[in-house]
Amino acid sequence: MRIGVLAVQGAFVEHINKLRQLDTDCLEIRKRSDLSKNINGLILPGGESTAMRKLLVELELLEPLKKMITDGLPVFGTCAGMILLAKEISDSDTHCFGTLDITVKRNAYGRQLGSFRCIDKFDGKLIEMPFIRAPYARRIGENVKNLATHEDRIVAVRQDNQLATAFHPELTNDTYIYEYFFDIIAKKK
Ligand code: GLN
Repeated sequence: MRIGVLAVQGAFVEHINKLRQLDTDCLEIRKRSDLSKNINGLILPGGESTAMRKLLVELELLEPLKKMITDGLPVFGTCAGMILLAKEISDSDTHCFGTLDITVKRNAYGRQLGSFRCIDKFDGKLIEMPFIRAPYARRIGENVKNLATHEDRIVAVRQDNQLATAFHPELTNDTYIYEYFFDIIAKKK
């Protein structure tokens, strides 16, 4: 199994380190020719979603990646990655891939509480959740499953091949969400 990690901006190194820890082969996706190599899943990291979107357009990665996702490639977006997948962004007319039927609110926790860690349930299991200027999903479509809520806000969702968390599992020692993603790839979930 090989996982592609979008590596144009943001916290992609943390995901790559985590995948290596889990003995999983990974490929940095930086340019169009990287897409001709075989991958079984794709990770969209945290970072700055507006900068990432701009780079995806400039590097001509947006449309081909969007097609791979709509064709069923398993994808896991964390934080900015969740924003890249979202169909709608509150207070904005734009979106990036727009493949995940949710509306996200960016930078949803205000300046003072912009970053914090908590422990809450993901798919019924308690895990550590680091939030860094995180979004949350203020609306989810009927085909979207709510996997985690923190203080009444939806912070992890799944729609078929798409998984997204508002927090950063790559910054914890917990591997449960990666295993959950690997199960989606293996069609065990
Ligand atoms: N606030 C960032 C954005 O809107 C996301 C922050 C993150 O990925 N840690 O893109």
